[in-house]
Amino acid sequence: MPRETRPTVMWFRRDLRLRDNPALLEACAEGPVLPLFVLDPHLWGPAGPSRRAYLAASLRSLDASLRDLGAPGLQVVRGDPVRRVPAAARAVGAERVHVAADFGPYGRQRDEAVEAALGEAGVGLARTGSPYVVPPGTVHNGSGDHYRVFTPFHRVWEQQDRPAPQDAPDHGDWLALDEGTTDVPSPRLPAGLEVPVAGEEATHARWSDFLERGIDDYDTTRNEPGTDGTSRMSVHLKYGEVHPRQLLADLSRRRSAGAATFRKELGWREFYADVLWHQPRTAREYYKTQYASLAYDEPGELFEAWQEGRTGYPVVDAGMRQLRSVGWMHNRVRMITASFLVKDLHVEWQHGARHFLHWLADGDLASNNHGWQWVAGSGTDPSPFFRVFNPTGQGRKFDPDGAYVRRWVEELRDPDRVPDPHEPSSEVRAAVGYSEPVVDHAEERREALARWEHIR
Ligand SMILES: Cc1cc2nc3c(=O)[nH]c(=O)nc-3n(C[C@H](O)[C@H](O)[C@H](O)COP(=O)(O)OP(=O)(O)OC[C@H]3O[C@@H](n4cnc5c(N)ncnc54)[C@H](O)[C@@H]3O)c2cc1C
Repeated sequence: MPRETRPTVMWFRRDLRLRDNPALLEACAEGPVLPLFVLDPHLWGPAGPSRRAYLAASLRSLDASLRDLGAPGLQVVRGDPVRRVPAAARAVGAERVHVAADFGPYGRQRDEAVEAALGEAGVGLARTGSPYVVPPGTVHNGSGDHYRVFTPFHRVWEQQDRPAPQDAPDHGDWLALDEGTTDVPSPRLPAGLEVPVAGEEATHARWSDFLERGIDDYDTTRNEPGTDGTSRMSVHLKYGEVHPRQLLADLSRRRSAGAATFRKELGWREFYADVLWHQPRTAREYYKTQYASLAYDEPGELFEAWQEGRTGYPVVDAGMRQLRSVGWMHNRVRMITASFLVKDLHVEWQHGARHFLHWLADGDLASNNHGWQWVAGSGTDPSPFFRVFNPTGQGRKFDPDGAYVRRWVEELRDPDRVPDPHEPSSEVRAAVGYSEPVVDHAEERREALARWEHIR
């Protein structure tokens, strides 16, 4: 006897892919599927230009992939999911809505509200999988508590079960809404901003290329902002165009130090999601609460110079300009620019984290805000506060030939006029129109340490 099938809804959120999508496979096994995306004003409103443009492009790509499978396309509706998801389920007569679980502070609360609204209509919310290899809240220490530092978390995380990636559904019976539209918005990018090519195919192309030419040296090249030495997977992981499980499966066949380091970096992403799940307040507040009483300066003109890449410190300016040009910044430079804001300009990390989230296409609350807290000395495994990055020394060390600085700071591009891009003389600065340092690093370092003495 053929199994009885029932219409169902696949509500895509941070899993904009067809391959290795357990929630989608569950939905397809149940019956005809309505592939749904809800443009939620609560998320779309505060998203900056990079994330809006990227999300729109990723939705268009998913829509095209669904059409290739014979579906009428991704059904995109706008509004509060608490109303829109039950309405969509009602429209197709679904008894269940399938999702990958969301573990962020807003996503958890939204899903509980949607689940309650669906429940009133007799519809269930089925959570299968999540954007993580190991769902936040799963890894515990011997006394059942969560880990507060990375290394022991990582040891246990590495030992957790990893189901093998699954294929995309090869067929399906697909549904559409009468009022549905695949006409996703096409937000205009501000002049000078580009974002990466979105979609599952582009993701796999980039990943294959990185596996081919970059992974085995990754343990060294990952610290060289002037080279294309990292995977650029962050934005694809953010929107779930690839699942980290798929990356780990490919890495399991590699024995190089580069592959081992890469696995560890994926572990950091999961660690920060775990910490945020246990302590949602740390999205905005100090993880180490005593840092809230450190003396900070209000953001003013110097903060604007930092945002616009006009500090007169070449590697800082290069990073801040890269951020606004491509919606991404190299990890090493994220650390340098963040340190400069907190320890040289004495501005609280939250201001910088907000600016990053506005421009980053990969902007992720857990990785960004805990990355910031790490630099500010207030997070888990913090870089000790007294270890203040010297922006000039960091530039020389990690960008020895100046390729990164010359790429992003146009004034310093010409090697004939600017022989030393990391420390141009006053005469050179005046000649090429590049500003003098806005603060004296040695003085501000002393000032930061003096303020820190009061709270330590
Ligand atoms: C101040 C600050 C802010 C950050 N904000 C974000 C953010 O909003 N979104 C984000 O995805 N990452 C963030 N990171 C982490 C890291 O900088 C980026 O993940 C990385 O630069 C993305 O480039 P990639 O994919 O080429 O990285 P790769 O070096 O190729 O790393 C592979 C993957 O590992 C993960 N990863 C690597 N380093 C880290 C890390 N330190 N913490 C958490 N995950 C990591 C990412 O998923 C990354 O895609 C931040 C780091 C700092 C210091």
